[in-house]
Amino acid sequence: MAKKPASQMDVIVSLCKRRGFVFQASEVYGGVGNTYDYGPLGVELLRRVKDAWWNRVVVERSDVVGLDSAIIQHPKVWETSGHVGGFSDPMVDCKLCKGRFRADKLEDARCPEKPSKRPGECAGELTEAREFNLMFKTTLGPVEESGSVAYLRPETAQGIFLNFKNVLESARQKPPFGIAQIGKSFRNEITPGNFVFRTREFEQAEMEFFVPPGEDQQWFEYWREARYRWYVDLGIDESKLRIRDHEASELAHYAKATSDIEYEYPFGWGELEGIANRADFDLTRHSEASGTDLLYFDPQTKERYTPFVIEPAGGINRMALTFLIDAYEEEQLEKDTRVVLHFHPEIAPITVGVFPLVKKDGMPEKAKEIEAELRRARLATFYDEKGAIGRRYRRQDEVGTPYCITVDGDTLSEDVVTVRHRDSMEQEKVPVADLREYLEEASRRWVRPAPKG
Ligand code: ATP
Repeated sequence: MAKKPASQMDVIVSLCKRRGFVFQASEVYGGVGNTYDYGPLGVELLRRVKDAWWNRVVVERSDVVGLDSAIIQHPKVWETSGHVGGFSDPMVDCKLCKGRFRADKLEDARCPEKPSKRPGECAGELTEAREFNLMFKTTLGPVEESGSVAYLRPETAQGIFLNFKNVLESARQKPPFGIAQIGKSFRNEITPGNFVFRTREFEQAEMEFFVPPGEDQQWFEYWREARYRWYVDLGIDESKLRIRDHEASELAHYAKATSDIEYEYPFGWGELEGIANRADFDLTRHSEASGTDLLYFDPQTKERYTPFVIEPAGGINRMALTFLIDAYEEEQLEKDTRVVLHFHPEIAPITVGVFPLVKKDGMPEKAKEIEAELRRARLATFYDEKGAIGRRYRRQDEVGTPYCITVDGDTLSEDVVTVRHRDSMEQEKVPVADLREYLEEASRRWVRPAPKG
């Protein structure tokens, strides 16, 4: 693909707003810092990413089942998990500009007054680092008192551990098996930023895979590879993807091993998803603290044990942003430049654009008929009859629509349409009766286009 311009994040942010992927939240009131709403195309992109994840992790497997647990759990859950005591980031303040920064991420931070400098490298002096807990507190019920304090979950994983026994008993599973969940998590991040990369409210996709102790290392390696493969299968450029194993000093208190799948963003390498071997930490702690034993009894071997847990944990919004950045290309053509998002057809918000060549001779009616047929087949379509046909193709390229269908004179006389492919811009005549099958086959065979140079 062509070289990406230096200010690629600005280009992406502006495309997202212009075409209805992402808007600033509460914009009419001046916005809330680093909080975003997803527009018509953004919400479709998120849905496709969630579906692609759920299909791969749950639907295609017989050993993983789903769950949707509550955002607000018993406050003791977060004491037991270690979040009340330890889910914090070190924070420093600038004594001069009063800016707040994560002490462990100063490398990536900029002084708000002198963006060419890092905090502490300008005239301002930084305070000593102190720990700042990232959980959002709220109160349950009508009386605000200390006894009614609750937390918005900072991860979806704990809801899964709490339901280990319920699922085990109701879903006829036994280790090795997994429980998957997609849902909102909340973290009062000290320095949210880089658009939707780090926000205080975001969606996570997590799966806890429970295995007999001793099988944990092999399953850790399995999920590390499987999750990496998912990104590659959905078209992510492998030269921008890497797996980074955590050093022992970097490991979270619950983890025996962790690997991050990282992507090279315009602002540098960043975590896209983490895969952790959480050993038996969570089930043991919840068993001890709640008094409910969360062991597994194997009726065949008569063994009773606490399963080890392998956890792939990713962020849906961060995945969607990554797919957007990775798909973006400004392609140099003979006469001009075209902006195109080379989304995998499975995650493209719109699958087919449907256009009448001209707004007369019964073409709009025929085009609408074809569009309705495709919609009934659950294909995401967009009907457009305004402007020159080339312009209409370009508008769809910019939002990553893989196919456009044009209804012309041949459609009326011979029942064939022109299918135009986003990546190659090649056009092909296809009988209307074969359209659905043709599009499904093209999507199945999609491969990431080679760089145009
Ligand atoms: P970081 O070190 O970037 O703060 P983390 O290691 O705390 O992230 P995890 O707790 O492993 O992140 O969360 C799993 C995934 O959830 C991350 O890989 C990321 O995709 C997503 N995620 C975490 N925090 C945020 C956030 N503030 N905004 C958006 N996505 C997030």
